[in-house]
Amino acid sequence: EVLQEARVVSAGRHRIDLDCATHARLLGNAKELYSAMANLAINAVRYTPEGGRIQISWRQRGSVVEYAVKDDGIGIAPEHIPRLTERFYRVDRGRSRETGGTGLGLAIVKHVLSRHQGDLLIDSEPGRGSTFTACFPARRLVA
Ligand code: ATP
Ligand code: MG
Repeated sequence: EVLQEARVVSAGRHRIDLDCATHARLLGNAKELYSAMANLAINAVRYTPEGGRIQISWRQRGSVVEYAVKDDGIGIAPEHIPRLTERFYRVDRGRSRETGGTGLGLAIVKHVLSRHQGDLLIDSEPGRGSTFTACFPARRLVA
């Protein structure tokens, strides 16, 4: 499960909560969807300093089902946001070397979401944190 995986990566260095407000289920490729969701959660852990807080939520708002990962980590400057889902795009190459990773994660997330009629919303402020929200149309779901 995503929460478990995020906790393993965090190794106790973050406070990670799950808020599950709907029983909605997605139709589609379960492995792909899982890896996209895990990717967002692992990014939150990776780009949030020790002691930070990460909230993972799953809820339905009208005809939209939302999976959101909110962190209070380093955040992203507005000029980078439109480019994050490009392949190999990473905000800070110097820092990126320390934290590992290839810069492919969000490109894959975007691809998986588009195959499931989903959308990725990114809301972030440098120094305050980020929220990545994957939105899926509820008509594609069985409750
Ligand atoms: P990987 O291929 O291992 O996922 P990556 O994490 O660098 O490598 P992406 O997941 O595509 O690649 O993310 C691209 C860049 O977006 C990251 O390098 C980082 O700079 C920025 N980023 C992603 N998520 C966050 C976040 N939650 N907070 C701050 N920056 C983020
Ligand atoms: Mg990543």
